[in-house]
Amino acid sequence: MEKTDLKSMTKEELSRFLSEMGEKPFRANQLYQWMHEKLAVSFDEMTSLSRPLRERLSESAVLTVLEPVCVRVSGIDGTRKYLFRLADGNVIESVLMRYHHGNSVCVSSQVGCRMGCRFCASTLDGLTRSLTASEMLEQVYQIERDTKERVSNVVVMGSGEPLDNYENLVRFIRLLTGEGGLHISQRSVTVSTCGLAPQIRRLADEGLSVTLALSLHAPNDAVRRTLMPVADAYPLTEVLDACRYYAEKTGRRLTFEYSLVRGVNDNLAEARALAALLKGVHGHVNLIPVNPIRERSYVQSGRAAIEAFRAYLEEHGINVTIRREMGRDIDGACGQLRKSYLEREKKEEAAGT
Ligand code: SAH
Repeated sequence: MEKTDLKSMTKEELSRFLSEMGEKPFRANQLYQWMHEKLAVSFDEMTSLSRPLRERLSESAVLTVLEPVCVRVSGIDGTRKYLFRLADGNVIESVLMRYHHGNSVCVSSQVGCRMGCRFCASTLDGLTRSLTASEMLEQVYQIERDTKERVSNVVVMGSGEPLDNYENLVRFIRLLTGEGGLHISQRSVTVSTCGLAPQIRRLADEGLSVTLALSLHAPNDAVRRTLMPVADAYPLTEVLDACRYYAEKTGRRLTFEYSLVRGVNDNLAEARALAALLKGVHGHVNLIPVNPIRERSYVQSGRAAIEAFRAYLEEHGINVTIRREMGRDIDGACGQLRKSYLEREKKEEAAGT
């Protein structure tokens, strides 16, 4: 029988679970606090619970804790890139970025990804599996334990498509932002999606106030389809309607991510089309110079092209930022560290070491 994943449970669910074990409901608060506030890594640490209860818990339930495999620290900007091993042996990556406004953690939502975006390293081997809420939380918890610094922002922009793991994502957000845990403000959480329109609408109706980032990457379906297979399933009109609905329901400003790829989506005709597409939309554009991966031949746009693109959008009333490239010296792009780690592991296995 599969053991209960305690760290993915709400306080109410824990209460029910413990009362079924014959325990007093207030124990749920203590257990919740040990897991989500004190960030305990073992039942042994939970000294306010009796030893027999801790033993019974360890028999019927698991306390999900990720195992740190390695951390790489950027010499340029102090960005820390972590590789964690899950209980089933899979590895995932998470990133800590230090900004003047606080520490931001980029969380993975799946092992691999099945969306197939052409420029992205996370999707090259497809989807292995989705992460549980506790596995997403633990990425943030491990980084707090490691740095002993508070995390103030969380972006779900690591490997995986968060809206392809919908229930676990929403559970994760509630546990991360709820009282009695890290209690991170929902306004400081961003969910980035490649544009699964029905799930965007569903998220709008959850009563959450997290920021939605749409990976746009092109101002029309023709160019978008060459970069993102998901564009075949959901055309831009449908995706943008869902985004507008999200903005209306939540009152949150939207973010549009646009990775600039030389000669593919970075000329002024595209800037013009983008400005027209986003006219009157409550949001801003975040330009990302594409981070080239070895398996694809995409090339980063030149400085001048990026500047011209930005200037055009600004002149036409669109708010624009250019994403600072964090941790470029440490395999900063999505899925690159994990990929190089897995390749090394495979080579070592083949060599019998
Ligand atoms: N699946 C989600 C979140 C993961 S990726 C999504 O699609 O939004 C986070 C962002 O980084 C997305 O905008 C994604 O398109 C972009 N991205 C992925 N690989 C990249 C690369 N090599 N260079 C630039 N941007 C990349």
